[in-house]
Amino acid sequence: MKNSARCPKCESRRLWIVEPFRVPDDTNWPALPVATRLVGGAFLTQVVRMGGFDLYVCADCGFSELWARGLEEMQASPETGVTLRDTTDPEQGPFR
Ligand SMILES: [Zn+2]
Repeated sequence: MKNSARCPKCESRRLWIVEPFRVPDDTNWPALPVATRLVGGAFLTQVVRMGGFDLYVCADCGFSELWARGLEEMQASPETGVTLRDTTDPEQGPFR
């Protein structure tokens, strides 16, 4: 929907767009992160949020898509279950 500006389920062209998607709560970090990682040592550990989401909702049927943003902030973090699986063929260049 983000690129086509059309719902793939009902063909509607009426979309709600929420940038960034937020989870209503009473914290001061309302935007939903893609993932988190831990930084610091034994005495002071901080949770760092990485990335976020934009939400696209069809105004007619309700079909929804989340699109990740801020992926340049992503770092592998095995302790929080974040890994990058890259199956790119190293023999192939950027033009396939
Ligand atoms: Zn729809």
